[in-house]
Amino acid sequence: MPYGIPWNDVETIYPCVKCGYETLLYTPFCANCGIEQPTEERKQAIGCARHVTSKREPDEIQASLDEFNGFAVRLWSYGVSHCELQLHFYKTGKHRMILMCASSDEVHLPTSAWAADLELIVKAGKYGDEYIVRDRKLGHYVRCGMVVAYFGFDSSFCGDGICPW
Ligand SMILES: [Zn+2]
Repeated sequence: MPYGIPWNDVETIYPCVKCGYETLLYTPFCANCGIEQPTEERKQAIGCARHVTSKREPDEIQASLDEFNGFAVRLWSYGVSHCELQLHFYKTGKHRMILMCASSDEVHLPTSAWAADLELIVKAGKYGDEYIVRDRKLGHYVRCGMVVAYFGFDSSFCGDGICPW
């Protein structure tokens, strides 16, 4: 079994309309700057609430990787305790994806951004399925015990000029 602890799924994230401070529960006043917020219904209606979703099935994850093919990807963080790493993908505007690879055994990735052409390979490993996320053109890869794709989480990755869009 993979040792990694994936993030919990939450349904909605509410950023403050003034300072951008984010909460997982709607509050009528910002906990950071104190400014009054629009009602929960209004925040939903005006696009001031982000919905968070995740993909966990290999075919869904591959479809998500295909969606970001040709756009920028970058190794964003690595947590030693659970051998977890995050790849952040940038498309345009707020269209981002975070790929979390837990229980990573082997990491061959550059520390700078590149244009993604990634495939997900599932193989029988010593302790169950193992996953290899590999770039078809450049050969960069990570071999791990679990992969989850997240949409809607905040990322400050802006593409590093990789994509002309
Ligand atoms: Zn605020």
